[in-house]
Formats: sequence, structure tokens, C-alpha cells
Amino acid sequence: MFPVLVCQCGEQIALPYRNLQGTTSVQPYWPTDSETIVLVCSDCAQSSVHRLESIRWVDAGLLSPALPSTVFWRVELICDHPRCELPIVAHIRISEDESGGEIGTKVANATPKPVCAGGYGAKLHEMPTLIEVEWKGRDGLLM
Ligand SMILES: [Zn+2]
Ligand SMILES: [Zn+2]
Repeated sequence: MFPVLVCQCGEQIALPYRNLQGTTSVQPYWPTDSETIVLVCSDCAQSSVHRLESIRWVDAGLLSPALPSTVFWRVELICDHPRCELPIVAHIRISEDESGGEIGTKVANATPKPVCAGGYGAKLHEMPTLIEVEWKGRDGLLM
């Protein structure tokens, strides 16, 4: 069974995960700096907020066949409010062919728009910081 988060449109978005050593347990990725994850659906362009309890477990066979050619990104955008330095963080699983600029635009324009902790939206036409989420080391979750 593999961890997914489900968009309002019904799209199942697979979370990166790792197998815990010596067990058959699967540990889903979760940001270390937040209890929630903001996920943008590359299918319908909606953004949604999920908690750990929102994770659903599905059979590998039911996951989208396009999965191997997608990348799960942590996307950090720059806040549009002057003097605000809080990051806008969202995650997206998207085709590996999409450029950084396209991904940034897609995330900044999602509905509702992802905001910083102060409630402000992202500056458009700024290159986002993109971090590919994958497991580093045996015990550390990536930020
Ligand atoms: Zn969707
Ligand atoms: Zn801000």
C-alpha cells in the first residue's frame, strides 16, 4: 500500500515514501517544518491543505501509470508584500518535463492562491526555489 493525498477533483497524488529498514512499513514524506502540507494539483490547478490524517493508502496498481515520469517538488515562492520575508511553500507532483518557471506560475496561480503565513500571495514572474523531494539518508526526512 502506498500513501496518497486526494485532491477535491478526485486525483490521487502520490506522496514520496520510504520503506523503514527491517520492516514492511512505509513512511510517507511529510515536511519537517509544518503540520500541514499545501498541495497543488497539476490536473485541476486547485490547491488544498492536508494533514497527516488525510493520507490514504492505495494499492500500487491503482496509482496513475504516468507516475514514473513525475517529480514531487517542494516549491518556495517569494511573497509579493513589501518587507514580508515569509516564504510561500507548496508541493506539487508534476511531469518531469515542466520547467521551473512553469511550475512556479502554476503554483502561484492555483485556486485558492497559496499564501505566506502573513496571508499574502506570491510575486509573479519570479523564479521559485524548487527542491525535489526524495529521501536523503536512512532516518532524516527532507525539509
Ligand atoms: Zn485536482
Ligand atoms: Zn508574506
